[in-house]
Amino acid sequence: MREIITLECTECKERNYSTTKNKKTVTGRLELKKFCKRCRKHQVHKEAK
Ligand SMILES: [Zn+2]
Repeated sequence: MREIITLECTECKERNYSTTKNKKTVTGRLELKKFCKRCRKHQVHKEAK
């Protein structure tokens, strides 16, 4: 029951990462701090719809 999702930078909206999440354990939008190469710094990346 793991679903593939895309993570996008909350600053520039660049889609930098894809990951999987377990819909049974993760509720709501996934948020991860990742390095964005467009911003050239770490930014919070959110699950893209
Ligand atoms: Zn960015």
